[in-house]
Amino acid sequence: MRDSCDAEVSAVTLSEAPNSQAGTLYVVATPIGNLDDIGVRALRVLREVALIAAEDTRHSQRLLQHFGIQTPLAACHEHNERDESGRFLARLQAGEDVALISDAGTPLVSDPGFHLVRQARAAGIRVVPVPGPCALIAALSAAGLPSDRFIFEGFLPARAAGRRARLELLKEESRTLIFYEAPHRILECLEDMQAVFGGGRQAVLARELTKTFETLKGAPLAELCAWVAADNNQQRGECVVLVAGWQAPEGEEALSAEALRVLDLLLAELPLKRATALAAEITGVRKNLLYQVALERKS
Ligand code: SAM
Repeated sequence: MRDSCDAEVSAVTLSEAPNSQAGTLYVVATPIGNLDDIGVRALRVLREVALIAAEDTRHSQRLLQHFGIQTPLAACHEHNERDESGRFLARLQAGEDVALISDAGTPLVSDPGFHLVRQARAAGIRVVPVPGPCALIAALSAAGLPSDRFIFEGFLPARAAGRRARLELLKEESRTLIFYEAPHRILECLEDMQAVFGGGRQAVLARELTKTFETLKGAPLAELCAWVAADNNQQRGECVVLVAGWQAPEGEEALSAEALRVLDLLLAELPLKRATALAAEITGVRKNLLYQVALERKS
């Protein structure tokens, strides 16, 4: 499931009054590849709860079997989450603890769970995160792109027009951008990013994290596209794409139309140095930048 948090946010009022008789809903992160990444606390919780709500019970059964856990599983996925939440809430209200897991990583992050968590909180049920693997955080931690501020965009629209429109909106986003993408769309996605953000923008493809063929390739988008196009293996497996945020260019493009207009008027009447000094006073723009732009315009 991809977009689990898309609607009806305002319909539920979060309860401030805890229901002390009720059980706890644990939101448990599970490995994104390497099973050794499961947390000690996650294992204990999965062992001790009465029920595990899982995105795909067959998939999660293998995880539980690997760790010798016999807790019963019930499906909580994209198609039944809204309808089935009531069933899980009833168990919680009866005093049982329930764990929520997805196929991989942190539930609710491009995965099901939003409706259940929201309804549990609205019913005064304690919701406890059991943190652990998450592909976007793993990718960011090793990509070498600025990590102090970033935005997570989840999956881009599958169709080219929608994808490009979304990318256009992000063109001047200055924070590091993080996307999930399906392997069969990775090349067209990178090509659209190159077309919209420019081939020189730095990006990182983080593929098969924590698995045997883990790859982190950082390069300007044009180079990254060519590299992925030339090697089919790079179009397989699971991937995260990270793109460096937009940086205001030094020079003419960095000036507002008004600052440029003032500079041009003054340049027409005054020597270059005097024109830039006055333009700096009028517009508040750095003198050095105006001087550099003035030189470009004169030449
Ligand atoms: N809830 C998960 C999390 O916490 O990361 C994400 C689930 S989302 C349905 C699946 C997407 O996450 C994949 O298409 C891929 O973009 C990314 N992903 C999951 N595991 C990954 C891995 N081992 N390496 C790279 N990307 C991964």
